[in-house]
Amino acid sequence: MSGDYIKKIALIGNPNSGKSSLFNHLTGLNQKVGNFPGVTVEKKTGICQLESRQKLMIIDLPGTYSIYPRSLDERVVFETLIDPHNDEFPDLAIMIIDASNIKRNLLLFTQITDLGIPVILVLNMLDVATNRGQRVSPTKIARFFSVPTISLNARTGQGIELLKKAIAEHKMTKAASVYQTQTHERELEQEIMERFGLDRAYMAHLMLIQHVNFPGLDLKEIDIIKELIRKHKFNPELSQSKEIIARYKVIEKVIEDAVVYNLQKTATSPSGSIGSSHINS
Ligand code: GDP
Ligand code: MG
Repeated sequence: MSGDYIKKIALIGNPNSGKSSLFNHLTGLNQKVGNFPGVTVEKKTGICQLESRQKLMIIDLPGTYSIYPRSLDERVVFETLIDPHNDEFPDLAIMIIDASNIKRNLLLFTQITDLGIPVILVLNMLDVATNRGQRVSPTKIARFFSVPTISLNARTGQGIELLKKAIAEHKMTKAASVYQTQTHERELEQEIMERFGLDRAYMAHLMLIQHVNFPGLDLKEIDIIKELIRKHKFNPELSQSKEIIARYKVIEKVIEDAVVYNLQKTATSPSGSIGSSHINS
């Protein structure tokens, strides 16, 4: 029954970034709507066929601002992306961002890269950005993060074919980490990584901060983490806020490099026209 292995692709992004519009373009009428196990959070999945006839399973995840969940919707996303044993754990993440609101949207992107999930960045709403007098350079963003970056208009579907090509060509390599965890926390993170067989410091960081709700941990393991937190005098709230501040510093750098604000409305079109792809990795 299982047939050929079908790659799982998760659409990730802030609310209103264009996920569902993209999902519809990728899957057409080939959609299924259900719920995530045990919760009344809508789960939309669909099949997308590539030119090579390879099939992809596309999952439209609920809108999320951050990997630190504040709602049931966000919790579903956290649990899906944090746990390789989760049925919906993706082979590849498509992170779609509202390019007219890039600062806030890039926060989640930098967290996704740090989880070690292979990722393609989709710059959506470039038309809105242009109308607001902003020029966003996909080439510079691609180069900054070394992540394949595609310009899209999810409303019209312009750029979809290039996105499919980028998916087909993706080597499923993990993105480089954006956030370097705090020096004084590394020893503790190393201990967590060894104990729980993790390969990314950021996973250890998330486990320390969210141990109570971390998928797959039993009570004994939670106690072990609590003990380590005490021993190392780790402060989860402080550590989390330092992480967010550090991420926004990186994001400010990329914005300085790749975004121009306050252009005259009559200015020339954006340097990366819709449908262009910028693949640097
Ligand atoms: P979701 O909340 O992430 O699923 O976002 P939706 O796909 O529902 O999109 C939110 C709104 O933005 C809808 O009205 C879309 O038609 C619109 N939209 C999506 N992509 C674009 C785009 O590239 N440009 C413009 N102008 N509107 C878009
Ligand atoms: Mg939606």
